Amino acid sequence: MGYSGFQVIKEGLFGQKGWKPVWRDPEPKAEYDAIIIGGGGHGLSTAFYLAKEHGMTNIAVLEKGYIGGGNIGRNTTIVRANYFLPGNSEFYSHSLKMWEGMEQDLNYNVMHSQRGLINLFHSDGQRDAFARRGNAMINQGDDAILLDREGVREYLPYLDFDNVRFPIYGGLYHPRGGSARHDAVAWGYARGADQRGVDIIQNCEVTGIDIEGGVVKGVQTTRGAIKAKKVGIVVAGRSGQVAAMAGMRLPIESHVLQAFVTEGLKPIIDHVVSFGMGHFYISQSDKGGLVFGGDIDFYTSYAARGNLPMKEHVMDAAMTLMPMIGKAKVLRSWGGIMDMTPDGSPIIDKTPTEGLFIDCGWCYGGFKAVPASGFSFAHLMATGNHFEAAAQFRLDRFRSGVGLMDEEGTGSQHNLH
Ligand SMILES: Cc1cc2nc3c(=O)[nH]c(=O)nc-3n(C[C@H](O)[C@H](O)[C@H](O)COP(=O)(O)OP(=O)(O)OC[C@H]3O[C@@H](n4cnc5c(N)ncnc54)[C@H](O)[C@@H]3O)c2cc1C
Repeated sequence: MGYSGFQVIKEGLFGQKGWKPVWRDPEPKAEYDAIIIGGGGHGLSTAFYLAKEHGMTNIAVLEKGYIGGGNIGRNTTIVRANYFLPGNSEFYSHSLKMWEGMEQDLNYNVMHSQRGLINLFHSDGQRDAFARRGNAMINQGDDAILLDREGVREYLPYLDFDNVRFPIYGGLYHPRGGSARHDAVAWGYARGADQRGVDIIQNCEVTGIDIEGGVVKGVQTTRGAIKAKKVGIVVAGRSGQVAAMAGMRLPIESHVLQAFVTEGLKPIIDHVVSFGMGHFYISQSDKGGLVFGGDIDFYTSYAARGNLPMKEHVMDAAMTLMPMIGKAKVLRSWGGIMDMTPDGSPIIDKTPTEGLFIDCGWCYGGFKAVPASGFSFAHLMATGNHFEAAAQFRLDRFRSGVGLMDEEGTGSQHNLH
């Protein structure tokens, strides 16, 4: 059924009895043209674009849990296109444009809100780095405004500007950045894919990948064997485990990232704010909760829950930046398993096995990439060619060392430090 204002009024008048399940609950077939392993944001958007852009509808998305139970339903929902390096900047720019048309495309309200993102800086050196990043964003065709201290104060008067250790010097303002409702993105893509004939199969864990003579033949699952000519691995934090089923060892470590939400408060924070010194960022949800997070926990784990030292670190950073937050009560915290690559950039590529493809390595920034990742991965799976904006996300860059995209500037590209 289509969603519209008219439908909402009609259902309101007739007791809300006409709403239909958003997607079917089919039994797995014996064979598909393509199988997507993982029903997170990236897997669902891949299935959607395979059907929509390439007419491939005999597809199954196999999800070991439930739709929305992975990182797609655990992230802090920041959507932005403020990447710096060639390879990343055109991809995330493309993704943000897709976000801007997503609700019409899916006929689904994902509550995409371009409320603006401000990255604070606290030293002259950081100002230079952000000025450079802003120029790269403008060259890419995106928006960036360098704010001085008073400029930041106009938008964010509640911050502590004169903190002795980290005084605020200014900020890089990205007006088209913002947030969206994460699980609605999963539901919207699931519904769109299902409407086009894709089978979304929950509670179906892939336990093996069938390969004969270097060619993929299908998968083994907890609901039986399923054949397919093409298989895409899109399992985020579980990428290493699933790739191992095909005999691959990935350049990926799985780490925990935590997030926090307070009780609902009256509107106070109407941007996304990122603290340049404490690895802390915050926004306010439409329900009023302050949603915030920090860095990964810095130990490898497959447990989707974090530890106390990082909690303390994040709370410290919050109090340093905005002491008034100390009055808010934290309602919940949770964790997700991040697929961290050595250069902080993702992988969308073929594998050495014919017909087997992989999309992973999104680190802690894959929510904003959901539309462009699905679009690019679908293009690769359907045509065998890389979509231009994602052409540099190659698996072999870690073996060859050529084409690494060290977005954080912490490792391989010393000229960027
Ligand atoms: C706390 C936190 C905050 C974050 N904040 C942001 C943010 O603000 N902005 C941003 O851009 N990104 C953010 N991210 C990152 C973002 O959420 C992820 O990069 C992205 O969601 C990962 O892709 P996905 O949605 O496909 O993953 P998932 O939703 O994790 O999907 C992978 C799916 O694969 C399934 N699976 C695994 N193994 C198997 C198997 N063997 N068989 C079948 N299915 C399997 C899993 O059950 C899971 O549902 C954050 C992440 C976390 C945890």
